[in-house]
Amino acid sequence: MIEELRILEELQGIDNEIDALYTDGGNLPEEIERLTAQWREKQEAFKAKQDRLDEYEKEQRRLEREIVEAQNAMEKFNKQLSRARNNKEYRVLEQQINDKEFLVLELDEELAKLKDKTIALKDEIEAETPVFEQEQAAFESQLKTLQAQLDDLEGNLAIKRDERNRVSLRLKKSLFRKYERLRQAYNNVVVPIQRGACSGCNMTLPPQTIAVSKGQDRILDCINCGRIIYWDGDY
Ligand SMILES: [Zn+2]
Repeated sequence: MIEELRILEELQGIDNEIDALYTDGGNLPEEIERLTAQWREKQEAFKAKQDRLDEYEKEQRRLEREIVEAQNAMEKFNKQLSRARNNKEYRVLEQQINDKEFLVLELDEELAKLKDKTIALKDEIEAETPVFEQEQAAFESQLKTLQAQLDDLEGNLAIKRDERNRVSLRLKKSLFRKYERLRQAYNNVVVPIQRGACSGCNMTLPPQTIAVSKGQDRILDCINCGRIIYWDGDY
């Protein structure tokens, strides 16, 4: 076989290896992205619950403060009540005390409801935490595996591309361009003649082409599909 054919076959072999690498791992970046997005969603949902719990607890403290303030005001009014100078003053203070009493009742009720909600949410978060942590560990290990596979793929592709460059430099530019053009259309650009036909498209070749191919000293094209054909001794 002439040297150029050998180089072309070598190039085709490398390209097939590159294609196989893409077939095996080409979707790894998307897979990593999908997995990460999925995990982020879970993480956000869990964090939203924790944020809600923080809000509840903050609101609890606010209510407790408001209750203390109302109670202090009530105490102050009670002291003033004992020093009331007339009926009008007495009635006004009594009304103010009543208002504060009512406010404290309302706030107590609100606080009790909020405490129930806080406990329920705390329980929910506590129950979900081990599941969340398990899922986090699973995600991290899955991501690590996929990332390692992607690193492998990129490493292998870099090696193959480098090999490809070195091999293609050994071809005449015009022949390399022809190969590149054919490779857009076919996976098998360089094919042997089998039973008198191009093994790429199965078109029977003229006897003259076959005779020339036996000389093994020229690059021949299939007149039908344009693939590069060669004689491999198997008529
Ligand atoms: Zn053909």
